[in-house]
Amino acid sequence: MNGPGIELTLAPELRLFAPPSRRLDRVPTATDGASSLGHVVESAGVPLTEVGRLLVDGSEVPVSYVPRAGQSVEVFGVDRPQRIPGAPLRFLLDVHLGTLARRLRLLGVDAAYDNEDPGDPALATRSAAESRVLLSRDRGLLRRREIFAGAYVYSDNPDEQLRDVLGRFAPALAPWTRCTACNGTLREADKDSVGDRLEHGTQRSYDVFAQCADCERVYWRGAHHSRLERIVDEALAEFGDGATV
Ligand SMILES: [Zn+2]
Repeated sequence: MNGPGIELTLAPELRLFAPPSRRLDRVPTATDGASSLGHVVESAGVPLTEVGRLLVDGSEVPVSYVPRAGQSVEVFGVDRPQRIPGAPLRFLLDVHLGTLARRLRLLGVDAAYDNEDPGDPALATRSAAESRVLLSRDRGLLRRREIFAGAYVYSDNPDEQLRDVLGRFAPALAPWTRCTACNGTLREADKDSVGDRLEHGTQRSYDVFAQCADCERVYWRGAHHSRLERIVDEALAEFGDGATV
């Protein structure tokens, strides 16, 4: 681009998206005189899903604003918690985020996920059709225009990913109410009603408490339960209050 020059300042939390030369304050940036600020910010490497307020010479403007020569632009990250208007809060995760999907479900958060990658166009279309916030570490996917809403997942560590999403969106938590395998809702169950679905040893040793209304998977307090309880307890301790949706 070789038009009007502006000065661009990215908020510190957005600088990881930009090349090193753009990670400073007031970086001289050429525009083409016709592109929106949203386009300029995306060209700097920052997905618009991560952008909150935009200030031009100190005044807030929309992403459609076309910057003029000599203006100083400040780009802020999203507010946390971030409100997503237009639908109940629910998520769609890309194929690389299976562990995060299961942990969100464990906490009762609606988290759609496919083990087989449906491809970027299908994910974006589903996000729009079901009004789901698309979670991904793929910036190209988050740039697709048709998505309902999206969020970049900043870490590749599942513990940090969970804290990132819970802190960013503050979803209501309802542990042990959703199937971690299929995202269906759980209903109460007892050994007698599901006994034919259990191994004999399981039936003797464990206390059945729930069954998925969709895939009929049975849940009991088994060998992995203490690890899951730790995840639930830590999430409730840090994020159990203040949930609003
Ligand atoms: Zn299920």
